[in-house]
Amino acid sequence: MSRYWNPQLNELSPYVPGEQPRGGDLIKLNTNEMPYGPSPRVLEALRGASDETLRLYPDPQSLRLREALASSLDLEPGQVFVGNGSDEVLAHTFRALFQPDAPLLFPDITYSFYPVYAQFFGLTAETVPLGGKFEIELADYRRDNGGIIFPNPNAPTGILVPLDQIEALLRDNPDTVVVIDEAYIDFGGESAVALINDYPNLLVIQTLSKSRALAGLRVGVAFGQADLIEGLERVKNSFNSYPLDRLSEIGATAAVEDREWFQKSCAKIIANREQLRAGLEQLGFDVLPSAANFLFARHRERSAEALYVALRERNIIVRHFEKPRIDEFLRISVGNEAECEALLDALSELIAS
Ligand code: PMP
Repeated sequence: MSRYWNPQLNELSPYVPGEQPRGGDLIKLNTNEMPYGPSPRVLEALRGASDETLRLYPDPQSLRLREALASSLDLEPGQVFVGNGSDEVLAHTFRALFQPDAPLLFPDITYSFYPVYAQFFGLTAETVPLGGKFEIELADYRRDNGGIIFPNPNAPTGILVPLDQIEALLRDNPDTVVVIDEAYIDFGGESAVALINDYPNLLVIQTLSKSRALAGLRVGVAFGQADLIEGLERVKNSFNSYPLDRLSEIGATAAVEDREWFQKSCAKIIANREQLRAGLEQLGFDVLPSAANFLFARHRERSAEALYVALRERNIIVRHFEKPRIDEFLRISVGNEAECEALLDALSELIAS
C-alpha cells in the first residue's frame, strides 16, 4: 500500500500465476506448458527476423498472422483478433463485450483470472457451481446475465463440454455474448470455431501457449463475427496499439503454418496423458476425465497438500489449489515420457512409505 496509489488499487486481488522457478534441475508440471519445444520452423523464423528491422514498430494490425489464422480456419481476417497472450485477449473481452447491468456467469471452479478481471473492470459476477462430478452444467446458465464465460475443456478439471450443448446454449442465450476459452481444446476437444458464422453472440479464445509450445512468446487469439472483433480492436487501440512485437507475429505465423508439427506434438501429449492416467489410477488416485494437457487427480488416502510438498522436496512441481471442494486434488501437467515416469516413481515411493 502507498499513499501515492490510486485508492482503487487497495480493493484489487490480483491473479497469482503458478511458480516459474529460475534454473535448477526441476521437473516442472505446474503451469501446463508443453514439454516439447516449438516447431523448428518457428525458431528458424525468429532467427531470420532478429535483425536491424527491430528498429521499426510492428504492424499494429498483425495482419500477416491474422490472415494465416483466418485461412487455416476458413474465416475472414476481420473475424480474428490477436493479443499479448490470451490473458490480454480475455482482459479486452471483459472490457468490450460483457454488460455491466446483469451478472457475468462463470463456473465456481474455473480459471482464477476470471474473477480478477470481473473485479478490475467493475462487473458483477455470479459463479455457477459445477455438478457432482465436477462437470459444467449448462442448464444452470439459462438465466439473466451480462455475459457467460467458461474454458472448454474446463481448468483445472480438464472436463470437456460437448459442442452440441454449447450450441444449445448459444441458441437459448441470443442477447449476450458467450465466450468459450479454448486454451486446451487441441488436446482432445472439438472447437466451437465451426459455429462462428451461425452465432453472432459467440467469441472463441485460443492461445499459442499450450498446443503450439509458445508460452514464452505471448500470443493469444480470438475468433468471432466482425462486430465483436471490432469491439475488441476499439479497446486494444485505447490501451496498446502494438500488443504483438515483430518477433511474436513472425514466430506465431510460422507456428500456425506448421500443422504437421502441431498435430504430432498434440498426439504425443494425448498418448502420454493416457499413460499417466493409468499409472495414477494404479497408485490409488481418482482421475477426472481430461481432454486437456493436464490431469486433475485425488488420492483416495493421501492428502494432496502433503503429496504436493513431498514432490516439491524431490524437485517435482505440480499445482495444488487451497480452495474448498478441490483442495484434495493435484493438477498435474502432462510432461514428456521421462517426466511422467519420474513423477509416477516418486509418487509410488511416497505412497508406499
Ligand atoms: N485460459 C486458461 C483457461 C488458462 O489456463 C490459461 C493459462 N494460464 C490462459 C487462458 C492464459 O494463457 P496465455 O495468456 O498464456 O495465452
